[in-house]
Amino acid sequence: MKAQPIKAYGTKAADAPLTEMKIERREVTATDIEIEILYCGVCHSDLHTARNDWGGTIYPAVPGHEIVGKVTAIGSSVTKLKVGDSAAVGCLVDSCRSCDSCKKDLEQYCLNGFTGTYNGKEKYLGTQTFGGYSEKIVVNEHFVLKVPANLDLAAASPLLCAGITTWSPLRHWKVGKGSKVAVVGLGGLGHMAIKLAKGLGADVTLFSRTPEKEKDALQLGADAVIISTDNDQMESVKKKFDLIIDTVPYVHDVNPYVATLAISGTLVLVGYLGGLEPILNTVPMILGRKSVAGSVIGGIAETQEMLDFCGEHNIVSEIEMINMQNINEAYERMLKSDVKYRFVIDMASLKK
Ligand code: NAP
Ligand code: ZN
Ligand code: ZN
Repeated sequence: MKAQPIKAYGTKAADAPLTEMKIERREVTATDIEIEILYCGVCHSDLHTARNDWGGTIYPAVPGHEIVGKVTAIGSSVTKLKVGDSAAVGCLVDSCRSCDSCKKDLEQYCLNGFTGTYNGKEKYLGTQTFGGYSEKIVVNEHFVLKVPANLDLAAASPLLCAGITTWSPLRHWKVGKGSKVAVVGLGGLGHMAIKLAKGLGADVTLFSRTPEKEKDALQLGADAVIISTDNDQMESVKKKFDLIIDTVPYVHDVNPYVATLAISGTLVLVGYLGGLEPILNTVPMILGRKSVAGSVIGGIAETQEMLDFCGEHNIVSEIEMINMQNINEAYERMLKSDVKYRFVIDMASLKK
């Protein structure tokens, strides 16, 4: 398979900064779409991968899975989009497409393992996959999304991960008018969870460690803010929520949030991967038929459903645009929760 060299930004080791590098993209096959990347959101998973927080990072690593751009070439059998159209790519670029999960449009739970947009396996070239901190990407049309024309492309890019990752649990647990939803952590995922839950008609509360974020949360659509370190405030929402979406990236005590679940309520973890500490106490779960669950991104059909919903409700992310060359500084700010509320890279800066 022929490959073309392109410019990207990535890292060669867990403790090395991201720098400019050359990577290869496969040439367009019959079913592929080639996209010139205009904007790429910066997800906390990019940082986890660059720094090998989860283990298993293959170097060099080029992160980025909140990709929007313009179609520059299509394969001979592509029907979904044409050259010049806007297009988007999220966290998945391939899956087996034949297992039970894939047949149910749950490619994110592919029983043979989905191919991540970065740090996955590039089937054609035999290398790792490289993400959106790059000039272009070549993706099978099934995994390419359409962006509603009324949405600002840069502000829409975070929908491709932060949006779908919070949308999928909202839909799975059937959130609608009158549902009581809480969100833990006001970052990229958290602020999209507030907007999407509000869009679905829910009553939304934010749990945050950061009192300075209260005003923003209310402006984003939250009905209430609870400072999670304040015991009286935590006590005031006991047994209240039908669904809690916990976006905190690092190990933290989940038990105080379980106490705020209503009978039969669910707390879904989407942030932290690993063993919980302190351990989870099952007593309130058993006595209240409560669940603690997990969820990863969303399938392709569900991602398109979310994008279309955002088009109808004019929902996009709150973004701070950065140049590619400022990515290392952006990671440091993200670690301090100093993002309002998603960094998006203007990929034109990579051409400089
Ligand atoms: P982010 O923008 O950094 O936001 C995380 C928020 O969590 C922070 O703004 C902060 O909110 C809170 N927080 C941070 N550190 C904390 C700590 N040590 N203890 C308590 N709260 C803390 O990150 P993000 O991009 O939204 O991603 C969140 C997590 O989801 C990451 O781990 C990411 O890898 C993961 N993720 C998972 C999926 C999936 O499919 N499941 C998809 C995308 C991302 P406050 O200041 O308001 O407390
Ligand atoms: Zn992500
Ligand atoms: Zn599959």
